[in-house]
Amino acid sequence: MNIEQFYPLFLKSDKVTIDSRKVGVNDIFFAFSGDNFNAATLAEKAADDGALAVIVEQQEFENKEKNIFYVPSTLEFLQQLAVYHRNQLTIPIIGLTGSNGKTTTKEIIHAVLSEKFRVQYTFGNLNNHIGVPLTILSIKPDDEMAVIEMGANHQKEIELLCSIAQPDFGYITNFGKAHLEGFGGFEGVIKGKSELYDYLKSHHRTIMVNENDPIQKEKTEHYTPKITFGKEHSDYQFGLFSEEHFVGLQFQGEKAVSKLTGEYNFTNLCAAASLGLHFGISFDQIRQAIENYTPTNMRSQVVKKEGRTLVLDTYNANPSSMTASLHNFVTFEGSKTVIIGDMLELGDESEKEHQAIINLARELAFDQIITVGKNFKMVNPSALSFENTAELIEYLQQNKIQSENILLKGSRGIALEKSIEFI
Ligand code: ATP
Ligand code: MG
Repeated sequence: MNIEQFYPLFLKSDKVTIDSRKVGVNDIFFAFSGDNFNAATLAEKAADDGALAVIVEQQEFENKEKNIFYVPSTLEFLQQLAVYHRNQLTIPIIGLTGSNGKTTTKEIIHAVLSEKFRVQYTFGNLNNHIGVPLTILSIKPDDEMAVIEMGANHQKEIELLCSIAQPDFGYITNFGKAHLEGFGGFEGVIKGKSELYDYLKSHHRTIMVNENDPIQKEKTEHYTPKITFGKEHSDYQFGLFSEEHFVGLQFQGEKAVSKLTGEYNFTNLCAAASLGLHFGISFDQIRQAIENYTPTNMRSQVVKKEGRTLVLDTYNANPSSMTASLHNFVTFEGSKTVIIGDMLELGDESEKEHQAIINLARELAFDQIITVGKNFKMVNPSALSFENTAELIEYLQQNKIQSENILLKGSRGIALEKSIEFI
């Protein structure tokens, strides 16, 4: 099966999926092997359930009568199909990467641009070598724009994702201490994320720059085309304010308050607003989008529970976002408990970075510091240092946290959110 032959079938389909539970009639199913399932069984079932086409990489399972097609590599075929589809599209595609804030920024950009355009965007956090092609393949003829999140934990990954998504506009949210292990330290992070700039520069596409970020500024000095914000001479300038811990944005005397907490979200809002203004969306509409966007995804979320304020930031953590989160939380009025989970994937830097966070938490003088995970336990052996979330839950079942404010933040692997119902 080659791409050109297959493309008309793709155009007729409703969607492409790799999840056998989500295959509908008229869908294309890519049967990835390697997991606990037997790709053949899944492929047969999908075909019998009415899938328009099924792609397998086991030659013996090909069954053209049932529209089960063999390809040497399902992954490569998926990526090539996405590239082929991308090449037919003429709409602006916005690519996002960075260490922290990609998903949040993507969601707000989507909200803002949707005020005027029909926008397709990365669903959830599907930002890797499979998620990016799936997002590209989800772009329909009547979509007018797309926002693509690109994640990476090693070199050359963004380069690959750029070759698939071929963004016309690009933005790096920031360069932080995330995935240090895979990137080979902070310099490696800068190099790896900058692959987005490399792509945009070599194709003369537009870079959006937060001019308050010295690395972004330096890397894009003298480059055009670009959209800038942050400094006095930037294209767009915004003022920061906050209302009851929610970050707000001021533009030419007008104000918009988000439902996000954490000053770091100011930059994310600025990026979305700049892009909106660039595409001719009025600040009034931008305000509406920003005010209506409610995070429900454990990222910078604030909820009330039994009279206490819970800040839920359990989706992920690394030294940069943890530091930002603690600095934000300390500004909350009243007593404060922090429940912090290990920051994973830090490699050689792990012990040092966990120590630095413990030092910071002590310095900021929170009323109570609870840690979860082996890494924190090593640098902070105390009665309130748990090995995992299950141990934390046992503790919480016996002990109610009295503080008026409670922060939960940790890496995905720690799954701190499981403890919320016991707090
Ligand atoms: P992932 O690598 O998991 O895809 P991401 O880059 O998509 O992460 P988000 O999920 O948007 O990031 O945010 C994760 C957390 O990072 C937030 O809850 C917040 O604590 C922190 N964060 C968000 N934006 C920023 C920012 N601009 N600078 C620093 N930290 C941020
Ligand atoms: Mg993300």
